[in-house]
Amino acid sequence: MKQKKAQKPKPRVGIYGLTGCAGDQLVLVHTEDHLLDLFGAADIRSFVMASSNPEEGELDVALVEGSVSTEEEREHLKDIRKRAKILVAIGNCAVVGGVQAMYAGDGSFEQRLKKVYGDIEFVTPPIEALPVDMVVDVDYYLPGCPVSQSQVIALLGRLLHGFSPEAFPHPVCHECKLNENVCLLVQKKFCLGPVTMAGCGAVCPSHGLPCVGCWGPNEDGNFKQIFELLRSFGMSLDDITRRVRNFGGRKIIEHIKEQVKEVQE
Ligand code: SF4
Ligand code: SF4
Repeated sequence: MKQKKAQKPKPRVGIYGLTGCAGDQLVLVHTEDHLLDLFGAADIRSFVMASSNPEEGELDVALVEGSVSTEEEREHLKDIRKRAKILVAIGNCAVVGGVQAMYAGDGSFEQRLKKVYGDIEFVTPPIEALPVDMVVDVDYYLPGCPVSQSQVIALLGRLLHGFSPEAFPHPVCHECKLNENVCLLVQKKFCLGPVTMAGCGAVCPSHGLPCVGCWGPNEDGNFKQIFELLRSFGMSLDDITRRVRNFGGRKIIEHIKEQVKEVQE
């Protein structure tokens, strides 16, 4: 009699959301054509947006969306890290802190909090927004605001088959060139493509709109050069810095401090 082959257990996956708009989870829910395949190939233990019955045990892969913005989230994230073999930060908020981290680290948090909320007593005390890797170790990053559907499905496909996800270290300009667009910088328009992570397919410049950097900063980008060029278009350094901070997240000011100083001199 033929023995039945033992079925390999499916990788256990948890999908979590901290502070953010939940757009990255929504992208996953909206992958209609792939969702059944995903649920068939993985043992989805926790996915708040798609299931109300989470099982918080050991995980092979945890996808974490959102920035850490309360003490409760900090503890939750540490717990996820303890249980997960691989942890992936997905989306701009998890990768760099998101729009909520735009002024993070400038010393005005208490003042800004008071201005918005007054003297109310919080049920869970807020903290200044942190990217996930400022609290726990992160194995892989998938930027985007929100992440692209094809990139997140490719990442999950590779991880579920035991491979490392593909890295996208190039800037938006790369995809813009592949789309054969006329460069907006040549037209003296404020485009952050050269210092922004690729992955969106250069969707904005392809429609004549300058990139505002929502995929987060490409840390290999030549910030000094782009600052100098944009200044030559008549923009103030403050304005350029504010726009870079918009989606640049928690660490960008430290990263570009030297370049800004050199441009100022
Ligand atoms: S339009 Fe923007 S993204 Fe496209 S090549 Fe020019 S600077 Fe780069
Ligand atoms: S702002 Fe830039 S990174 Fe964001 S979608 Fe548009 S082109 Fe892509």
